[in-house]
Amino acid sequence: MELLKNKILNDGHALGKDILKVDSFLNHQLDIRLFEAMGEEFARRFENVEVTKILTIETSGIAIAAVAAKYFDYCPVVFGKKNASLNLDKDIYTSEVYSFTKQQTYQIMVSKKYLNPEDKVLIIDDFLANGKAVEALEEIVKQSGAQLMGVGIAIEKGFQNGGKEIRASGTRLESLAIVDEMHEDGTIIFRD
Ligand code: 5GP
Repeated sequence: MELLKNKILNDGHALGKDILKVDSFLNHQLDIRLFEAMGEEFARRFENVEVTKILTIETSGIAIAAVAAKYFDYCPVVFGKKNASLNLDKDIYTSEVYSFTKQQTYQIMVSKKYLNPEDKVLIIDDFLANGKAVEALEEIVKQSGAQLMGVGIAIEKGFQNGGKEIRASGTRLESLAIVDEMHEDGTIIFRD
């Protein structure tokens, strides 16, 4: 998606060869016009796919998924919670995520009330690196008996393994921008 690639080139910063900082439009300050364009693009790419619910994960996935839902007939958005809150239902699906950026494992949970076997789920997230966040969300979909229809990602880092593994598993994956290389001098190279 050209708009997103240009935004990454103009306003993103490569922190070494591994981490892409996009705080000015995706992870801290949010560019809603861009989010709307991303939502439209997800809807175009998943045009013939029935989606009854979008599933994402705290924190940065929420805004992207919420805006994208407008283009999926305002379907509900459910997010995996990272911290057990006292008022959260005890009846929950849980799975574990290893965070590459934080280098620690944490649990996510979704109330059983909000995912059920009739649901057709699209997973959306901001970044795909080693695929651990998506894997944990897939596990929650599996526990719920819902059908996983695909995975939509804003920025995939193609030099890490998540994308390869998801595609190999047969799950449909659509990434709006795929970064294949980042260099110490700040150069960012996209696929195609
Ligand atoms: P994965 O689970 O695929 O290894 O990593 C995905 C999660 O880690 C994303 O939800 C995102 O929050 C974070 N992440 C991974 N790599 C990057 C990166 O280069 N930049 C930013 N801003 N977040 C990242």
